[in-house]
Amino acid sequence: MRLTVIGCSPAWPNAGGAQSGYLVEGEGRLLLDCGPGVLARLRANEDGWPRVDAVAITHFHLDHWGDLVPWIFGAAFGPGRDVPKPELWLPPGGRERLNGFGERMAFGGHIDKVFDVHEYEDDTPFAVAGYEVTPHRLDHYSELTFGLRVRNHASTLAYSGDTGPSHRLVELAKDADVFLCEATLREPEPAERGHLSEDEAVDAFRASGAKRLVVIHRPDELPLSPGVERATDGDVLSV
Ligand SMILES: [Zn+2]
Repeated sequence: MRLTVIGCSPAWPNAGGAQSGYLVEGEGRLLLDCGPGVLARLRANEDGWPRVDAVAITHFHLDHWGDLVPWIFGAAFGPGRDVPKPELWLPPGGRERLNGFGERMAFGGHIDKVFDVHEYEDDTPFAVAGYEVTPHRLDHYSELTFGLRVRNHASTLAYSGDTGPSHRLVELAKDADVFLCEATLREPEPAERGHLSEDEAVDAFRASGAKRLVVIHRPDELPLSPGVERATDGDVLSV
């Protein structure tokens, strides 16, 4: 499995960065999240319009799905018209939420023309693009949010999406070959949890038995301790 970090910025972009988007290649091509900036990067990499088998969205905060909007316009009216339509996997209730945004933002009538829309369920593996993907519900303020565990015949990738600390996060990453884990914060939030500090990401990694931790969704201004690996847009990892 090959993983390309298309964008790994937090809720605002790092300078020159794209927001969340991680392309998994091997059996097929699966994009995990599609935040602002991701579509332009994919277009630059692929000369035309991205050809992916599927896109899977962890939650409906804009930095994780916003580029679905221009994707829908470009696939309905632009250079994506002749590209086979990918599957789009959303959290439970996601179809209705996307349709609601679509009604207010003038793309609602085009969603089903350009994506084959599905909803996944917590803890229920689904087959997509040649992988088995298992969503694990995680703690992210009041937003219904999932981490995604992606497996093929040879290896396992765990992607935290956005999350506070929990035993579910540890389960998500259990014995994974690569654990892409957010560490948005300098210090843990005092009350309701939705993100991780560096120490909390490292604690989850250690408890999980995963082989490699790669920190994502971190503002460039926040340092990491020596020896803790930080993702950069454009990184290509073998999983
Ligand atoms: Zn979020």
